[in-house]
Amino acid sequence: MRGDGISRGAKKRYDSKRPVVAVRISREQNEKLEKLIRDSGLSKSRFIRRALQLELEKKDRMYRKGYQEGLAKAKDKYTTHLYCRECGKPIPIQGVIAESVVCDLVDQSARVYHEDCQPPMVPGETRLLFEKDSDRPVIRTMPRVQGGR
Ligand SMILES: [Zn+2]
Repeated sequence: MRGDGISRGAKKRYDSKRPVVAVRISREQNEKLEKLIRDSGLSKSRFIRRALQLELEKKDRMYRKGYQEGLAKAKDKYTTHLYCRECGKPIPIQGVIAESVVCDLVDQSARVYHEDCQPPMVPGETRLLFEKDSDRPVIRTMPRVQGGR
């Protein structure tokens, strides 16, 4: 005990949980800070905690905004468009693996249609059929006619 009723251990624990922060700023900056604190109606410590909270929220918003922008750019960069042979509308294909599989089939003369747009199949034809708003095709092949060439 130090005589003022607070043990050294208790003060140490309190200081470690609530450290004192001191900074040096110019007289002009200090006047501006004091005015801001006065105008806020908050105590100095409450004002600093509020400012810290606002900074953390701002940082979080910026992080999320950057993440969303990066995601949108990546989606755009890694999206290939195929076009329905019947209606001509684009069909977005996302993802590197899906894109390479689909593009290989198209290179092997598979025809691309929306499921709802396709005309009747002809023998020997391979199609990639997409439901509206889906980038996962159903692959359908019509066998060649037996005995015919
Ligand atoms: Zn179509």
